[in-house]
Formats: sequence, structure tokens, C-alpha cells
Amino acid sequence: MIVNQAYRFALDPNATQMAALASHAGASRKAFNWALGLVKAQMDQRAAEKTYGLTGDRLTASVPWTLPSLRKAWNEAKGDVAPWWAENSKDAAGIRNLVRGLDAWRDSKSGKRKGAKVNFPRFKNKRSETKSCTFTTGVIRVEPDREHVTLPRLDTIRLHESARKLARRLEAGTARILSATVKLDGGRWYVSFSCEVDRQIADHARSDAVLGVDVGITHLAVLSTGDVIDNPRHLAGGAKHLRRLSRRVSRRVGPDRRTGQEASKRWQKTNADRSRAYARVANLRRDGLHKLTSALTADYATIVVEDLNVAGMVRNRKLAKAISDCGFATIRGLLGHKTTWSGGRLVTAGRWFPSSKTCSDCGVVKAKLPLRVRTFECDACGMVLDRDLNAARNLARLVERETGTGVAGDPEPQGFNGREADRRTPLAGQVAVKRPPRPGTVGRQRPTADRELTFAH
Ligand SMILES: [Zn+2]
Repeated sequence: MIVNQAYRFALDPNATQMAALASHAGASRKAFNWALGLVKAQMDQRAAEKTYGLTGDRLTASVPWTLPSLRKAWNEAKGDVAPWWAENSKDAAGIRNLVRGLDAWRDSKSGKRKGAKVNFPRFKNKRSETKSCTFTTGVIRVEPDREHVTLPRLDTIRLHESARKLARRLEAGTARILSATVKLDGGRWYVSFSCEVDRQIADHARSDAVLGVDVGITHLAVLSTGDVIDNPRHLAGGAKHLRRLSRRVSRRVGPDRRTGQEASKRWQKTNADRSRAYARVANLRRDGLHKLTSALTADYATIVVEDLNVAGMVRNRKLAKAISDCGFATIRGLLGHKTTWSGGRLVTAGRWFPSSKTCSDCGVVKAKLPLRVRTFECDACGMVLDRDLNAARNLARLVERETGTGVAGDPEPQGFNGREADRRTPLAGQVAVKRPPRPGTVGRQRPTADRELTFAH
């Protein structure tokens, strides 16, 4: 199966290369800003002309928002705008990013693009913007020693880590590099290769089982097997160190654009320390999530998760930090990629699927279950189970009913109270039961057809 996959490696550039990397990033930003300026000027001009009643061909012609046209315009203007341009790779033009941004804005405006509204591209700022540059042509390769990479105009740069994972694939002919992006992240330069990879689909250890994953703050994930993955809380763990560094930064003379005050050497040094400390937290988190999702997708072909409204959740100011520290959205993204790569699938339960409020044994849905109640107690069948484990089992059941496969972590077939017949009752789309259950009909609910189920792939 051919998939697109990125490989990211930390670089160890020397001083000259470091300057060249920064120069490329700057050139990319310059071209982006120039082209955006052109697009905006032409839009304003045409808007003004329309107010005079001009229409159609009588309006000023504008450059089409495509990569070839905007690049042509840039090539004609770059001699005046950026006389130093020849020092950098011609690929440094960040116009591809602008075209992508303009397309996204146009599609979002016309309703062609789903999801959150996309704003019109903004000018990139030297101070706040991430420094990066993408190469698509020229010499891009991993050297045979696997310790160096060669990039256009940047020459051969030493890697901070071995590139063996990608090199093995390149040597075997199962990967092809499409582009390379260099990026400054937390004070360190990285290169990420976007590749086309021919992946072998390995057999899953438990190909017949469905795994439900309930993510949360108390535990990072509770699996329907009953396994609990603790929340490592990397940010909270580094909080003391970060607080001390931030205090130190604030006591030193930082830059001030109003007074023209330049940052002191001591401020720059401490600020770099702080950036590195934050980058370490992010690296630890990313590493943990990669390991977790790789392990899950290697074992299970079908994984079910909830569709969490993370953007809405972080609006709760008391929980925002703890939620962001978990990386819920990253878990889902990684599971999506990795299930596809391993020939499995990720199923997302609808946002209103009552995974926590439903009894995973008899299927009765509770009317209310406050967040502080950590144990699920079923009023109908009397089942008592950890709240998150109950939710994870309900998620797994969602697919099990679709496909008739076994659920990972299913208890022994006799079930609770010996009522085997009730065990396969559909869960979703049920109404809450408020009245006390009548004897004889305990926990028996009529199945309904509408079910919120979306398949990611
Ligand atoms: Zn029950």
C-alpha cells in the first residue's frame, strides 16, 4: 500500500549552515509577503473600481491565484525586491504556502471546505513566525552513512540522530522523497522528508478484536481490555523548571519595540533556555503518543474512539492546560494515520454518543452522570464498573454490533446476572430512563435505527 509519510530528523548544522538555513527561511517569508501584498493590492484596487460602477473586463486584471502565475510574477519582480535572492535556492519562494492559504480561504468562504472558518492569509512576521523553508527540486538525499543529509544550496548537513529508518526504505526502494522542509523548532533546526512509502500490511496480533479507547485527563487512555494508560503530565512535570526560567527571563532586559531597546545577551540566553525547556515537554509528549498509538494499531485492526470537541473543551479555563497537556487531538490524528497504514480502520463515535452514560452490560442509558462520579452503577442491572472502562467498552461495542466481531476485554460469556440474551442490545440512539425499572423488563430497551457512526476511512 502506498501512503504518504513524513520522517523528521534533528539537524546539527555548523555556523555557516545555520546562517544559510535562517537566510532560506527569511527568503521564503519575503516571497510570501511580497506575493500576498500583490494579491491584496489587486483585490483592493478592483474593489475600489467596482464602487465607480466598473465591471468585467474594465476592471484591473489580477494575477490568478495559482502557483505558476504568482511565481512568474515573483520572478519578474525579485531583482528589485530582493537583490540578494540568488544566494538562496530558488525553491525558497514561500508562494506555495500562500496559494494553499488562499485556496483554503476561498473554499471555506464558498462552503466547499468543511470545518472551522479559514481567515484570509496574513503577512508573516520575522519575530513571531516559525522559520521554515520547503524544497521540492534539486539535490535532496540522505547520505549513505545515514548521518548526513544533502539539501539544495545548503550542502551536506550533519544529522543529530541517525536517519536509518528512512535510509533503509530508500535503499530497499520502498520510499521516495517528495520534498524536504527545514524548520526551527525550540531552538533546533529539523528536516522533515515528506515521502511516498510502500508499506507492507502486517497481520494484527488480534485482527478479530475491536478495541475501544476512552481518553481522559485522570488517565490518558482507558482501553476496553481494562488496561489503563497513565497520563504522564509532561507539562505539569516541567512546570517548576519552566516557572523558574520564565521568572529569570522577566528579570532580564528584553526587547522593547516602542523604545527600541535591544535584548541583552543574558536575556537571549535565558529565553533560549526557556524555549528549549518547552520543546522538551513537547518532544516527550510526542514520543509517548507515538509509542502508544503504534502499539495499539499493531495489535488491533479496528479501533473506536470518541469524537471529542477539544476546541470547546479548552475553553474551560480551569481545564485548558491539563487538556492541552494530554494531546487528545494528536492521539486521534495518529490513530487515524496508523490504522490506515496497518490496513485497519479507525471508527469515530458521534459527538453525542452517550459512551459514559450507557451501561456496557445491559445497554440502559442513564439520564445524568456528573463528571465527579468516577464509578458507573447501573440502576437497571446493578453492574458496577469504572466510569472510563465502561465508556471504552461501549465504544468497542459500537463496532462489534456492526461487524459481529469479538470485543477486546469482553468478560466471560455468562455475563452479569446470567442474562446472556441482553448482552447484544444496541446502545446508541436510546433515550434516558428516569423512572424506576419495572420488574421483568429490567434493562430491556427497544433498539432504534438511528445511530451516530462515522467511519474515518
Ligand atoms: Zn446495566
